[in-house]
Amino acid sequence: MIQLAMKQADYNRICAQALEEYVEGECCGMMTHGREDGPVSVHVCENIQDKMHKQDPERFPRTNRNAYLIDPGEQHQIISQAEGQGGGIAGFYHSHVDCDAYFSEEDKAQACAFFGDEPTYPDALYLVVSVYGPRSDRPVPEIKESKCFGWSEAQRDFVEVPLSLTD
Ligand SMILES: [Zn+2]
Repeated sequence: MIQLAMKQADYNRICAQALEEYVEGECCGMMTHGREDGPVSVHVCENIQDKMHKQDPERFPRTNRNAYLIDPGEQHQIISQAEGQGGGIAGFYHSHVDCDAYFSEEDKAQACAFFGDEPTYPDALYLVVSVYGPRSDRPVPEIKESKCFGWSEAQRDFVEVPLSLTD
């Protein structure tokens, strides 16, 4: 069965990023794999959704609070570098701010932006980390849960896949 294999330390870094960037909104990044099977490499990316929203609010109605966007140039560079080393893209991660870890319609639309009804990268896995803000009984933001999703050709939809954390 397809699963996302990630080093515990990398997963912890993603959670730390989600907590740090909570005030700004969703955090994001990419995952690549090498020539051999093994845990993915994690690449932190900037969420440029706010920037695009300020430039063109009609075309980009959402902000970092409820969407993420990775600069296409940065994306291309990360993929080319991995391919240059005999690997390729493994997937993307982003956080959900004050809501649970699910694959939203927006996430699906973004993953399928190029072809419309199937993902641009059919083998890519998507890690979603849910972070909730401070409450009266808890002064700092907190990671609630994480879920991983992958495209099912049989179901023509994204389904949850296991996240396997390794040393
Ligand atoms: Zn999302």
